[in-house]
Amino acid sequence: MDSIIHFIWHDLIWHNDKFLGVAWSAWKIVGWLGNAIFFSRFFVQWYATEKKKQVVIPQAFWWLSLIGSVTLLCYGLFYLHDSVVIFAYAFTWIPYIRSLMIHRQHKAARITCAGCGQKNPPQSNFCPNCGGKLTK
Ligand SMILES: [Zn+2]
Repeated sequence: MDSIIHFIWHDLIWHNDKFLGVAWSAWKIVGWLGNAIFFSRFFVQWYATEKKKQVVIPQAFWWLSLIGSVTLLCYGLFYLHDSVVIFAYAFTWIPYIRSLMIHRQHKAARITCAGCGQKNPPQSNFCPNCGGKLTK
């Protein structure tokens, strides 16, 4: 039993000054944090899609994309100095910010029902909640 614990701890978890096979530094933490943020967006999108039973991309997906990719861009620029990684994240912020802008515009253009107060999509003519006619 002791040799199993020794093997797991000394050979797999902490080996040659590496934790889980990674030589940690402040920039490694930044890089893995960027990876975690960027990867988590898939679970957020998947959860939203399963919840609605329809493929949707929630606003949080774009925020996680933006924060994760900018973090990974910093990792590439200031730590790796690697053109492949820098180029991979150099321009992705453009569609992420544009999607966030469109989300905001769409939210601002919603029509509030005078009858029940529900906020409805901009192109709506009637409130699906109370059936009242919506005025623009
Ligand atoms: Zn209504």
